[in-house]
Amino acid sequence: MAKLSVNDLNLQGQRVFTRVDYNVPMEESGGAMVINDDTRIRATLPTLEALRAQGARIVLAAHLGRPKGKRVASMSLRPVADKLAELTGHPVAFADDCVGDAAAAAINNLQDGELLLLENIRYHAGEEANDSAFAEQLAAHADVFVNDAFGAAHRAHASTVGIAEVITARGGQCAAGLLMERELQFLGAELEVPDQPFVVILGGAKVSDKIKVIDRLLEKANTILIGGAMAYTFKLALGKSVGNSLVEPDKVDIAQAALDKAAERGVEFLLPSDNLISQMTNGVWADPEVNDAEDIPDSREGVDIGPATAARYAEAITGAKTILWNGPMGIFEDARFAKGTLAVAKAVAAATVAGAISIIGGGDSVKALNQNGLAEQVTFMSTGGGASLKFLEGKELPGVAVLTDK
Ligand code: ADP
Ligand code: MG
Repeated sequence: MAKLSVNDLNLQGQRVFTRVDYNVPMEESGGAMVINDDTRIRATLPTLEALRAQGARIVLAAHLGRPKGKRVASMSLRPVADKLAELTGHPVAFADDCVGDAAAAAINNLQDGELLLLENIRYHAGEEANDSAFAEQLAAHADVFVNDAFGAAHRAHASTVGIAEVITARGGQCAAGLLMERELQFLGAELEVPDQPFVVILGGAKVSDKIKVIDRLLEKANTILIGGAMAYTFKLALGKSVGNSLVEPDKVDIAQAALDKAAERGVEFLLPSDNLISQMTNGVWADPEVNDAEDIPDSREGVDIGPATAARYAEAITGAKTILWNGPMGIFEDARFAKGTLAVAKAVAAATVAGAISIIGGGDSVKALNQNGLAEQVTFMSTGGGASLKFLEGKELPGVAVLTDK
């Protein structure tokens, strides 16, 4: 069911409680907290501009870190208000509590089109508990609710679900922000009936994190390419040796079930035929070697897909019409083990230029694209780690379900 979008509303003079994801990495420097990466703040700018253009009174709410219901000075959102003022070119007011008198006074001061950021909502235990009295307090000075925090939509908290229920019960509207709308479009609608060939690339550390996604995509994909450490659990299911590679021996059954389902449905399911192997001694990795045998020698770890596999995967990606990529092919944090991930990234970028829709879910895959300057060459990069996976599993996210249907 399609959800109301900010663009469907008339917000002139309305107080719009807007949940955003400003959980940005910060570092102490010279006695102050400094923002290391403002990607998440920038990602909300289109929504803020849409609200401002409509003359909304914009009340922003977000969480930072895990203060567990207490005021923790290093987790204050105040530096984010300054950064936001810089990025929008407009003043941004700050209320040093998200509820109560401080919030009420700051909201009452807002004029049409003005911005206010509330202090960290997780300073109150009622947020994560989705406490109904706390949700009422959050809703006390709001006419409309907008959720632009896709990364928090898989959690039923007071600022994602409770407040929406209060506003809905009053007959008010709850809408998706523009970032949220894009996430729902690309991770949802575009993958509902994807253009074929639909190629899915899955990697990263664990099969267990992604098995539900694999299971669902086996019903839609033409080809699934497996890399990263999760490939070794599949190898184990096929009776191969994996040396010291990171594996989940207790997940061999679910790996086998996925292989069976792929065979039954005629989905091409590719595993690495060669690997880079290495060995860690005293915390230091040895230079990798190519292992093109099916088995990985004892005492060695698989750290990346090998060159033949990288070439085979790149070829499988060429000609795809829809691509979903989640998880790196190796321990790409070490440049010596990043070649497989880079080969896949380049192939995805090239296929996109040739007309495919490419959707990247997963923080580390996004990092790999950014590192290689390829971020602009894919169609869409998701901002929500846990939320993306839940959504790709086909689950309804509580923070989306509560929004008003169109
Ligand atoms: P994403 O964030 O894109 O969803 P994950 O978080 O699932 O990806 O996995 C990323 C992590 O997997 C990286 O830290 C990477 O080092 C690790 N990884 C990939 N391949 C291997 C491997 N062969 N052995 C151990 N770790 C691996
Ligand atoms: Mg990750």
